[in-house]
Amino acid sequence: MKRYSAFAIAREAASYHEGWEKAWASPEPKARYDVIVVGAGGHGLATAYYLGKNHGVRNVAVIEKGWLGGGNTGRNTTIIRSNYLQDPSAAIFEKARSLYDGLSQDLNYNVMFSPRGCLMLAQSEHEARGWKRTAAANVLQGIDTEYVDAKRVKEIVPIINIDGPRYPVLGALWQKRGGTARHDAVAWGYARACSAMGIDIIQQCEVTAVRQKAGKVTGIETTKGAIDCGKLAIVVAGHSGVLAEMAGFRLPIESVALQALVSEPIKPVIDTVVMANTVHGYMSQSDKGELVIGGGADGFNNYTQRGSFQHVEDTIRALIETFPIISRLKMLRQWGGIVDMTGDRSPILSKTPLGNCFINCGWGTGGFKAIPGSGWAMAELVAKGEPGPLAAEFGLDRFGAGRFVDESVAAGVAH
Ligand SMILES: Cc1cc2nc3c(=O)[nH]c(=O)nc-3n(C[C@H](O)[C@H](O)[C@H](O)COP(=O)(O)OP(=O)(O)OC[C@H]3O[C@@H](n4cnc5c(N)ncnc54)[C@H](O)[C@@H]3O)c2cc1C
Repeated sequence: MKRYSAFAIAREAASYHEGWEKAWASPEPKARYDVIVVGAGGHGLATAYYLGKNHGVRNVAVIEKGWLGGGNTGRNTTIIRSNYLQDPSAAIFEKARSLYDGLSQDLNYNVMFSPRGCLMLAQSEHEARGWKRTAAANVLQGIDTEYVDAKRVKEIVPIINIDGPRYPVLGALWQKRGGTARHDAVAWGYARACSAMGIDIIQQCEVTAVRQKAGKVTGIETTKGAIDCGKLAIVVAGHSGVLAEMAGFRLPIESVALQALVSEPIKPVIDTVVMANTVHGYMSQSDKGELVIGGGADGFNNYTQRGSFQHVEDTIRALIETFPIISRLKMLRQWGGIVDMTGDRSPILSKTPLGNCFINCGWGTGGFKAIPGSGWAMAELVAKGEPGPLAAEFGLDRFGAGRFVDESVAAGVAH
């Protein structure tokens, strides 16, 4: 693989940019792989990347039914933060956030990580108490966050109205090193780096069955034929229940569409991420100038990937009170993605009842930020067959044992 660099741009400019290589190969599947990862979202691709990079496991295929990054990874609002309440969550999200710091260099691909800061507003006494508690927990965890008052919020985001009649801003949880990244680029960067290591990414190839013998997976059936494998990693977010059913076990997961929208592009008005969980809406501004606005989840389980007028109206109505200046903006696009929700709003990185089959899911509304840390932990689980410290608390067994990692405050609604 030719490295991307300023020198490469100059070199290719001299030959009319006709010499660029394809970013990744599109091979036909081989008959057998040591590891098959199902799902070429960010988590699946990062799992494959760290399998190759950290564990030297490179006879790997990533199987994707659509196009890589076309699931939630390409549909989210790209918020990155690590200020979670529980220790295991803070550890894996902070691992991810710190990997984002150097990800562009590591992958030799600009993922446009922008640590512009992330504010989570307190608009009720209850929320203020919750964020103060999280800020205190974060101090103990070594996560750099602080609770700031309303005056400081106004300094950070001058367009905000802190005196709203129903929900005045009382303060906020502020993580300076939180921010955003370009979601497609994260998927593309991992895909290119995987391909460079010889890992096969096979798109337009749906897994239709999981073959097994004596309690172990032997391979998968796909729309491109049967493929054998030594180990199987299921990393399909909203379709986790479908794949688990193929493999013969059940998951404590509900799949539901989560929606978002963007406005027409305008000049820069906001240079942080602001999340308003009480009214439920959050906003940042993309490099193109669009306001990226996160909405709600459908109130019923479904597998659709579309937006609906109800959420546009609810979300905008809620946000206008806090950001009156957006009231005359036109909205450009809306969409949805299928998120995979667990009861304790924490992910599952786990062994399964099948000896050589592992699952990574349950990131729900907030898994984009986790991609590097999740891939790191999942690769360790798959390579060694046992979870390392980052994944240890996120096993499926916690639901039977009642050992929940309760993040419903940090992640029940927000991202
Ligand atoms: C509107 C919205 C906003 C969000 N905002 C944020 C945010 O601001 N910050 C944040 O951290 N997170 C956010 N999220 C959540 C985040 O997007 C997800 O948690 C994360 O992208 C999940 O990544 P993934 O790789 O697990 O799944 P996906 O990207 O969905 O990848 C799974 C892949 O599996 C494939 N697949 C499914 N079934 C099969 C099959 N049978 N065979 C082969 N392939 C299959 C799918 O096609 C898909 O490409 C948001 C999500 C949505 C929908």
